[in-house]
Amino acid sequence: MFEGLSKRLGDVFDKLRGRGALSEADVDAALREVRTALLEADVALSVVRQFIDEVRPKAIGADVIRSVTPGQMVIKIVNDHLVEMLGGTVADLDLGAIPPVVILMVGLQGSGKTTSSAKIAYRLSQGPQGMAAEMFGGSFSTRRKVMMASLDTRRPAAQHQLKVLGEQTNVPTLPIVPLEMPLAITRRALETAKREGFDVLILDTAGRLSIDEELMKEVADISDLAKPKETLLVADAMTGQDAVNVAKAFNDRLAVTGIVLTRVDGDARGGAALSMRAVTGRPVKLIGVGEKFDALEPFHPDRIASRILG
Ligand code: GDP
Repeated sequence: MFEGLSKRLGDVFDKLRGRGALSEADVDAALREVRTALLEADVALSVVRQFIDEVRPKAIGADVIRSVTPGQMVIKIVNDHLVEMLGGTVADLDLGAIPPVVILMVGLQGSGKTTSSAKIAYRLSQGPQGMAAEMFGGSFSTRRKVMMASLDTRRPAAQHQLKVLGEQTNVPTLPIVPLEMPLAITRRALETAKREGFDVLILDTAGRLSIDEELMKEVADISDLAKPKETLLVADAMTGQDAVNVAKAFNDRLAVTGIVLTRVDGDARGGAALSMRAVTGRPVKLIGVGEKFDALEPFHPDRIASRILG
């Protein structure tokens, strides 16, 4: 673990082996390497600055315990702070409300909203059985009766895409009524879910290629009507620096409760997780690790921390 950063810090600390406490100069030299590692992992610049400012006072004057080198000591302090900033532990979905509990999926077009809706629906409807269910939080420990509805009336194929995913995952979807508008679909979804005794209703909203006022107003109106227990912002791990702007825009307008980070199976080092968490203060709750509907995992801050530090 941390071979990349260890090697870099090894070079910095070669001269310092065996000293008692980390001096200001040692720490600053080390944090320059940490800064580079974070930027390479695509953590947004403002968040890198915040991270360095927070970790610096923790490292200066820290005693280097006998069994480790100064470099390893800095890595431990940096890693601990990173894990803490990423939320510390696995964050569960909050489904504690009178059913049907609404999960609102928001994000840009192509972020993986529809796929993630189906993945979450599938996992919740499977309950504890199936692959690695015990890895998830308590909300996944009972089987739930889940329905999905697509509110994406802008992309002609979007509602159909969710229907197909529903068929593949054995999760019912709200029947499509041609030309119905998003708020009307929301209303019908809520009524249907209530009438038919669904525990969870997942609403998949329309995205855009970039943030615009019309999109924000539409999701805000849907949110006001649906009163979701969870509003999950879906974001592509590959978005890197842009993740901050997207997260800020959605979080300013909606009560985002958690983040779903997709394409964590790709080459991205995961810096977007730190950026989004830092900007919104909301936990990353789930990660997408592939295109298949079982490719969903809980978010482990410690694992992403090692990936970010490299
Ligand atoms: P939406 O426009 O936000 O609804 O995005 P979609 O759910 O349609 O996803 C866009 C593309 O990303 C699709 O081809 C998905 O298969 C793919 N995708 C979504 N999540 C993941 C993921 O976690 N890993 C990978 N590799 N691909 C994903």
